[in-house]
Amino acid sequence: MKHLLFLCFLLIADNCANAQTSMNETKKTYALVIHGGAGNIMPDNLPKELQERYKISLEKALAAGEQILSSGGAAIDAVQAAIMVMEDDSLFNAGKGSVYTNEEKIEMDASIMDGKDLNAGAVAGVTTIKNPIMGARYVMDKSKHVMLSGKGAEHFAKDNDLEIVKPDYFETQYNKKDIKKIKEREGKKSSLPVDKDAYSKYGTVGAVAMDINGNLAAGTSTGGMANKKFGRIGDSPIIGAGTYADNSSCAVSCTGWGEYFIRLVLAKSVCDRMSLQGLNLRAAVDVMIHDKLENMGATGGVIAIDKNGNIVMDFNTSGMYRAWMKSNGERGVKMFE
Ligand code: ASP
Repeated sequence: MKHLLFLCFLLIADNCANAQTSMNETKKTYALVIHGGAGNIMPDNLPKELQERYKISLEKALAAGEQILSSGGAAIDAVQAAIMVMEDDSLFNAGKGSVYTNEEKIEMDASIMDGKDLNAGAVAGVTTIKNPIMGARYVMDKSKHVMLSGKGAEHFAKDNDLEIVKPDYFETQYNKKDIKKIKEREGKKSSLPVDKDAYSKYGTVGAVAMDINGNLAAGTSTGGMANKKFGRIGDSPIIGAGTYADNSSCAVSCTGWGEYFIRLVLAKSVCDRMSLQGLNLRAAVDVMIHDKLENMGATGGVIAIDKNGNIVMDFNTSGMYRAWMKSNGERGVKMFE
């Protein structure tokens, strides 16, 4: 009888332990933040109908990443999925909808980073890869390199059966008109590779995520700055400048005036301010955007997530297209301050 009671006790204890484990498992959290560019985005210059279109697109991109995270998928896959949705949408300055260079061509940049092992991939100045973020992911997964550019990147993408399209796939009437206007305004004034004032379309896209295993990831994709010259490359494909992810601190995706983000190594600096200076995520982002970037006279924004799933979306422009969700049900879409 004593033995029987002891056996019952063991069985109950085992069941309790199993219940505890599965409770812990279901308690595991995840989160995703996306952006669709920062700039002079205000209710006055964004008609209601366009606001609605942005809202729908951001929600669609968020849902694509959320689906992966909620079914236990990896942060890196969620980041890629969310960015691909925005690259396929001509509203954004990434993939289809990318802005024109001074030569009236389209040259795109993208990067992705896995915070689990600091693995990263990037493509720069590509003209035919349908989804540049996929190009970046393939560089990370299927090559020994971190960044491939131009023709070489396209060759690599083709060899690896990535979808290749004709350059006119990326063209939009809006951007075609826009580059003409920019050039008119520019006149003979500027011979700089990038003229800030001549930069009118916002819509670089990015995502940061934390999955149920606590892995962080970040990615960014862009057509760059409109009217860019001489093969200009911005911060978006530069690991450390426009994108960074490290499980021990945070994951960051940037948007804004790329030259300054490069000079400040902005994305990695946010992570370093956390790990080396002991700042929390909000404070780390605050220093980099409202002190460092602002003091250089530059504008832009970041989305970031830390290893505990805290999220920050901050910018020193009038707006930034953004959306976020957490496994606790918190979610939202915003454009303005
Ligand atoms: N950072 C991008 C670049 O400089 C542009 C942007 O985010 O709007 O290429």
